Amino acid sequence: MRTALHRDTLQTLDAEGYEDAYGKPVDQYGHEVARPPALCEVCRQDVFLRAEHSKKRTPNFVHFEGSAFCPIKAFNGAAYRALNPVPGNPAHAQVLRADFFATWRYHWHEFDRIIHFATVESFVSVLQYADRHGIWHYRDMRVQDVLPVLLTLMDFPPLKKSKGYLRDYGLRFLYVGTVANTNEYWNLPAHQRHLIRAKYEFPGGTRTLQSDKISAKPLVVFDAAYLAARYDLNPNNQPVAHEVVVNAMARAFRV
Ligand SMILES: [Zn+2]
Repeated sequence: MRTALHRDTLQTLDAEGYEDAYGKPVDQYGHEVARPPALCEVCRQDVFLRAEHSKKRTPNFVHFEGSAFCPIKAFNGAAYRALNPVPGNPAHAQVLRADFFATWRYHWHEFDRIIHFATVESFVSVLQYADRHGIWHYRDMRVQDVLPVLLTLMDFPPLKKSKGYLRDYGLRFLYVGTVANTNEYWNLPAHQRHLIRAKYEFPGGTRTLQSDKISAKPLVVFDAAYLAARYDLNPNNQPVAHEVVVNAMARAFRV
């Protein structure tokens, strides 16, 4: 990661900012300086600055060996994206699923707003995946709790249009904390469940999401009315979705 947090002020620091705060690695007499670690923006564990004065590599903040789980560390860890709900009440799961699809325009709208240009194909495929893996079975899950989990289940690469990009960066959504999977996330008290929207740059020939290409990691702020689940069940009073989106959802889920 190119940035981390100052351990006292929680300000975002890049390599230069870290040196400004804590000094250079070596003092004027050539002695190594013991500087405090910074904090990872995702899991809040200690991280140290590596390749600080390397000519070949970009300085980046790295976790200590033996530290607890962090999605930045286990960067391509498949388990992070697994859904393993404890089989809850099947009737509740059925109601939750029905409620979600009865109000899908709200979820699509919020999905698209948070991603900044989503495709209906990504919405359909992540929902099909979640559907197959029993997302509706999480205990006490409410309809407005589904979307945050959905967002963590896939990567959102840059989105091209005929010339240039609709969105020229990639996205991955991460749980805040040392949360290793959806079960752990779901077991947290509700006020501790947060998501980070990690933005990835694709310089030059980069084709994949790489943790040292993260350029921003803001928290996801869901719309207040969305979180309060103020949903109208009449489709005519729901947010308008493009015809292409409506047709794709009808084909995939018969809604
Ligand atoms: Zn971390």
